[in-house]
Amino acid sequence: MQYVIIGNGIVALSTAFRLTQRLSSSDSIVVVGPADRPGSATLAAAAMLNSFGEIGATSLKSEYDMYHFELSHMATRQWPKFEEELIEAAGDHLPSACAKCEVLKGGCFSRGTFILNNSAADEWDDKNFNAILKALDDFDEPHELVNPYDIPNYYPSQNLRATRAVYIHNEGWLNPRIVLEKIDAILGHNDIVTVIDGRCERLIGKDNQIEAVKLESGDIIEGDIFLLATGATVSGILERSELGIKVQPVFYGVGVSLEIKSPDYKHTKCIRTPNRGGACGTYTVPYFLGPDKPDDHILIGASNRVRPHPVYFGRLQSIEHLMHSATHEINEYFYGARLIRINIGWRPTTQDTYPLLGGTSYKNFYIATGTKRDGFHLAPVISDFMAKLLMGQEVDERFKWFSPEREIIHDISREDGVDVIVQSLMSEQYQHGYRPSNPLMNKQLRESYRQEIEELHDKVGAKDWGIPPELVNMYRQGYTV
Ligand SMILES: Cc1cc2nc3c(=O)[nH]c(=O)nc-3n(C[C@H](O)[C@H](O)[C@H](O)COP(=O)(O)OP(=O)(O)OC[C@H]3O[C@@H](n4cnc5c(N)ncnc54)[C@H](O)[C@@H]3O)c2cc1C
Repeated sequence: MQYVIIGNGIVALSTAFRLTQRLSSSDSIVVVGPADRPGSATLAAAAMLNSFGEIGATSLKSEYDMYHFELSHMATRQWPKFEEELIEAAGDHLPSACAKCEVLKGGCFSRGTFILNNSAADEWDDKNFNAILKALDDFDEPHELVNPYDIPNYYPSQNLRATRAVYIHNEGWLNPRIVLEKIDAILGHNDIVTVIDGRCERLIGKDNQIEAVKLESGDIIEGDIFLLATGATVSGILERSELGIKVQPVFYGVGVSLEIKSPDYKHTKCIRTPNRGGACGTYTVPYFLGPDKPDDHILIGASNRVRPHPVYFGRLQSIEHLMHSATHEINEYFYGARLIRINIGWRPTTQDTYPLLGGTSYKNFYIATGTKRDGFHLAPVISDFMAKLLMGQEVDERFKWFSPEREIIHDISREDGVDVIVQSLMSEQYQHGYRPSNPLMNKQLRESYRQEIEELHDKVGAKDWGIPPELVNMYRQGYTV
């Protein structure tokens, strides 16, 4: 059997890696993706392994969200073993940054996340923070409330200091560049794998069977089983392929993150706020470079603007906001840090915000994308399930809920949808310096947002369901189906 994996981000590569562990030497795998990976979400990621840290006030209300959380929680537990498997498989070809790695010691993988409840935004933060605490209690996850003064390397501006903070022991992070380098090395040295530096233009299908992939270079790659895992570019490829299947749109969740060098103020733990205003809040994560390299790099994240088309450069406002937030909400001494790199990545974001994972009505064609904010974290679980599906094996029945040709999941009530969008828009305004002169003005703004969002719901026919907050602009601009 020849397996053709289209894409070279964490989702595609971790699935290809799982296949190398499970296929026989008579099988073959072709991986297609551009070596320079423009817009790669994986390379821009922090890459935090957060489950509880991602919870918000409206999370875990539907069975879909509960199952998604279950997969995320499973991924937290699977990462140490997955990383061990990667190190073992890389053998002599381990990147030098991994030379002294013992999984949770001496490498890019570490754990311990502080979540702050500060006054940089508005009350929406408090509600999200409370939801995190409740979930930690409900699921018996190890955590402790800490005095914010005790958080290492935490020196916020006086007026933005946190009044509450919680430490989550098991939520960690990795350096995604090192992880990809490692999987590249594993695949590049495996006899059954061929890696092609190229871009898929379209898929060629006939009689409900994909026959080949046509590259932008004109080359044709034939195969038996195909996986499309190119992140945010999936919709464009499907459109050009004219396969006649209906898959909801995948948008470009354009995110900027910054790598800084902070020699006098080094991070040892992840410090972040809850998610806010349709994005992931402010976070700062240690960025490991290698055993004999400086240990003072930190990743600051992240902005999120969902767009219908790719965007190649970060907006000055996003960059300025990230620098401002990290300096004032986390450590004022970052003003003396050096800016090493500006990352821009496209979070693959579906219309209903759930991932697209599984087979299609073309019996040899699978899709894996739409992981939005946590595809890096979910990789061990997604790759396990996807490799099984590609090999014709069974997985958890509920995985079908994320099937690529499903109807759009509407699991937010209209009331909640409107409420969350208004809260998110207000939070966004506060984060960007909005300070009303009196409560009436605030009430007026809130009311005008509410009216606009109610009207938007009416316009798109959302009578008994709510628009996800991240998608409000796509609904406003008519990019939804
Ligand atoms: C700023 C930022 C911070 C984030 N932080 C986190 C985090 O802390 N934790 C977490 O879990 N997740 C995080 N995410 C989300 C995470 O990065 C994504 O969910 C995940 O990386 C998606 O992986 P992917 O492989 O589907 O897509 P990508 O990583 O985007 O990979 C897709 C690949 O396909 C290739 N490709 C594109 N078009 C074609 C084509 N036509 N033919 C062939 N190949 C093609 C691209 O070059 C790219 O390498 C973050 C994302 C961003 C942008």
